[in-house]
Amino acid sequence: MTKFETVIGLEIHAQLKTNSKLFCACPTVFGQKPNTQVCPICLGMPGVLPVINEKAISYGVQMALAIGCKINARSIFARKNYFYPDLPKGYQISQFDEPFSEHGEINIETKGRGKRTIGVTRVHMEDDAGKLQHGESPEDLNSSFVDLNRTGMPLIEIVSEPDMRSADEAVAYFKAMRDIILYLGICDGNMQEGSLRCDANVSIRPVGQEKLGTKAELKNMNSFKFIKDAINFEVARQTDLIESGGAVIQETRLFDPASGVTRPMRTKEEAHDYRYFPEPDLLPLLIPDEMVEKLRTELPELPQAKRDRFITDYKLPAYDAGVLTASQDLAAYYEDSVKLFDDPKTVSNWIMGELLRLLKESSKDLSDSLVTPEKLAELLALIKDGKISGKIAKEVFEEIFTSGKDASAIVKAKGISQISDAGELEAIINKIVADNQDSVERYRTGKTKLMGFFVGETMKATKGRANPGLVSKMLKEKLA
Ligand SMILES: [Zn+2]
Repeated sequence: MTKFETVIGLEIHAQLKTNSKLFCACPTVFGQKPNTQVCPICLGMPGVLPVINEKAISYGVQMALAIGCKINARSIFARKNYFYPDLPKGYQISQFDEPFSEHGEINIETKGRGKRTIGVTRVHMEDDAGKLQHGESPEDLNSSFVDLNRTGMPLIEIVSEPDMRSADEAVAYFKAMRDIILYLGICDGNMQEGSLRCDANVSIRPVGQEKLGTKAELKNMNSFKFIKDAINFEVARQTDLIESGGAVIQETRLFDPASGVTRPMRTKEEAHDYRYFPEPDLLPLLIPDEMVEKLRTELPELPQAKRDRFITDYKLPAYDAGVLTASQDLAAYYEDSVKLFDDPKTVSNWIMGELLRLLKESSKDLSDSLVTPEKLAELLALIKDGKISGKIAKEVFEEIFTSGKDASAIVKAKGISQISDAGELEAIINKIVADNQDSVERYRTGKTKLMGFFVGETMKATKGRANPGLVSKMLKEKLA
């Protein structure tokens, strides 16, 4: 039987976080009343002239630079013509054969293929179409509505090379791109609201064959899970089709999350011939070198670089570095904490363990957390100085999380400081030894595993407050 390999390329659309649209002054706020953020320009009235949004250009250039693209000093806007009810102009203003940037790449970690470089063909600028809503109100279940608030919103489209070989790789690539986009702060990354979305070109070919198979373009995927499900479904569909003697036809398919299948949207016969031609109302886009160099110096430290630095500077495992740099806020929180408590791995454990767990359980953001780096550092110092045990510290941490009080104040109020005084422990240990004479005998005949039992009894008797190290040491002496 022929073995097939999957070939995937992604087209990511990111809506840029500008205050106004790409070619007019309309606001870009999400969720406003339909058709309240429109003007003659984005509605495509006759005689109007578009004016480019400079902020959108600088955001686009930053993205392109972050993924190693070459910036073209001169690029051209083009009209991409098609008919659809959500497109009042009858065309999108996009870029075609002369985009503003090309030839980038990013690295991803794959399952089974190690570290891989995924090529980026181009990043170009375009304006968005509107939105159709179908049967939104009970009395109008059979009607469709047009909301043009999104018409003319600034987008960048990031087109990858067909370098991915599985749904997991596609998701890893998209996640890496999203991380970069969020670090740059050029898009809010909200997939649910459609600010960040992607189409996937999926095909299969016999292993060893160089020529690409016929692809299907998958649309309508607004979560990582949907992307994975849609691609996996599509690969299975194409494989079945070819193995049963059929052929894949080039078409656009929509993913239906409810049923987990992709369905044809338009067949080749109806496929758009976009009839691209240069936009006559816009001059070529000129991006001067000085602007590029200025934006390059303004780039923040990017996710990959930050991860690498965390591994080197703090001697963290790659896993920790990945978790801690998932957002710039969390990374900054970590670094602030380490400045105050110089034990990078311990700080990492507490953030990844307790802090992230409590944030998740309470559906809170890091910015809502009452555990400041100062409060975390104070708690960790109490453990280090033997004032409280690690177990008690977890309870204290929870209380800081809900009340925002200082660790030392909580420990004092609750009387839960650790007992590190041998004199105080002596009496307790003596009583446990006296009450468990048979265990003592068995311990002395070689059942040294019983040490755990004695330590446990001591911790129980002190409600977890005894210093475990000291307890073990004292018990060893008593039982010897
Ligand atoms: Zn407008």
